[in-house]
Amino acid sequence: MNQPLLDKVLNCPRLPSLPAIAMEVIDLCRQDGINIKQIAKTISNDPALSTKILKTVNSSYYGLSQPVSTISHALVILGLNSVKTLALSFTLVSTVRNAGDEDYDPNVIFRRSLYAAVAARSIAQRVGIAECEEAFLAGLLQDLGVIAMVQTLKSEYVELLSEVGDDHEKLWRAERKQMKIDHAQVGEALAKKWRLPEVLVEPIRHHHQPQKAPPAMRQATQAVALGGLAADVFLRETSCTAMQDLISQLRSTFGIDASDATDLLETIGNGTQEIAKLFEIDTGKVRDVGEILCEANEVLQEVSLKSQQDLTERNRKLQEKATRDALTGAANRGHFNETLCRWFEQASRQSAPLSMILLDGDKFKSVNDTHGHLAGDRVLMTLAKTLMDNAPEEALVARYGGEEFTVLIPGLSRPEAAQVAEKLRLVIESTDIEADEDLVLRITASMGVATYDGVRFFKRPEQLIKAADQAVYAAKAAGRNCVRVFAPRVPAAV
Ligand code: GH3
Ligand code: MG
Ligand code: MG
Repeated sequence: MNQPLLDKVLNCPRLPSLPAIAMEVIDLCRQDGINIKQIAKTISNDPALSTKILKTVNSSYYGLSQPVSTISHALVILGLNSVKTLALSFTLVSTVRNAGDEDYDPNVIFRRSLYAAVAARSIAQRVGIAECEEAFLAGLLQDLGVIAMVQTLKSEYVELLSEVGDDHEKLWRAERKQMKIDHAQVGEALAKKWRLPEVLVEPIRHHHQPQKAPPAMRQATQAVALGGLAADVFLRETSCTAMQDLISQLRSTFGIDASDATDLLETIGNGTQEIAKLFEIDTGKVRDVGEILCEANEVLQEVSLKSQQDLTERNRKLQEKATRDALTGAANRGHFNETLCRWFEQASRQSAPLSMILLDGDKFKSVNDTHGHLAGDRVLMTLAKTLMDNAPEEALVARYGGEEFTVLIPGLSRPEAAQVAEKLRLVIESTDIEADEDLVLRITASMGVATYDGVRFFKRPEQLIKAADQAVYAAKAAGRNCVRVFAPRVPAAV
């Protein structure tokens, strides 16, 4: 961190000091045995402040069922936390703003902070975080560092602000890169200097990296960070990615689903408009809530379409996984069985042929014994690939088991299937297999062909398998690396 620059900011005489009333409220709240009466008296001594607080708690954003007329009453109905937070919010905002600067309009910062504050409180309330009032104030003060840097570094920093435009995340990154310090660090130091409580300091410090907040304050910090994102939805000119980020982060961080997200946006939009008047913050040209909700619906539709596509893709992959042999990528035995039954039934219905080639690697055990099991695996992978690359397009290539594969071909007569088998045998025996570094092998296979001709002999699919198996046996017996065709002995017609 750039400590000299931080010292320069913190020691700058232009930096506003904590107003007396805020200091007093903080001190009173820190004491053991908090004196509520005294706090009420302190706040009530400032009529302008009291009026603002009462107007705020009676606004529809707070949604009280009965109006509240005095600070003491507000303390009873809303509790110390809400009233204290509002007192600090009003005094700090007016102090920092009045410190003013001719080079930069602090309203730009406060406009975003106010949206972020209302959003942080609304999100915290929605998910039941205890510190929702603190989330509001932390949201409001999160960019205190920006104001402090404007006031102390002047044009050097104002230039940076105008370079990044309305992209707040870009500002934070640029500060870190160019100044070796960021506004979250400056804000933290200032909050500590003002002796603000930890529950405000931590979210200010980590509002760009909420995952780094200490566990006890992580949720409140996440609400503040998401509040910033919600502010971008309302204020940035190109808010579509902010909307997508917000919706996906609301879900991933707090499990807030799509319809709740649109409700939240509505509460935030309307709530901010109402509170802004009380804080005398000009929300300027802000996007209409209705327009934002329309955009939210569009994003949600895209998101649900995308998750539908992801689901289809995942199902496809799962299905593929369920039907493929993991080592070789050929169809697995289960898929072969299922396909054989289907094609057999089809062939019988259409009186069309169905051929099966069964092949068994020759002396395969010796490959494992000589070169190791891994090399054996690579040989099997290459064998499967050779079959898949060279079998007819309509064929199903499956691993039948161990070093046995099968090629099932619909519509092929016995002599045609025998030709295909012979072609495959030739390709296999002439294929170089890179079984290991500096180890190129070749293998051969013995093949058996059986054909269901659509009308005769085989009654069930298993009989076709058995016949192909017998043919492989015959090929092995004939000396291996050859093709044998099962020839059914059909009873002579009477
Ligand atoms: P034959 O010519 O009579 O078929 O001799 P063979 O050695 O090929 O026959 P055998 O059935 O005795 O051996 C088959 C070998 O295949 C034994 C087994 O370890 C090996 N095998 C089966 N599945 C795999 C596998 O997934 N990976 C590897 N590396 N080897 C396998
Ligand atoms: Mg920030
Ligand atoms: Mg074998």
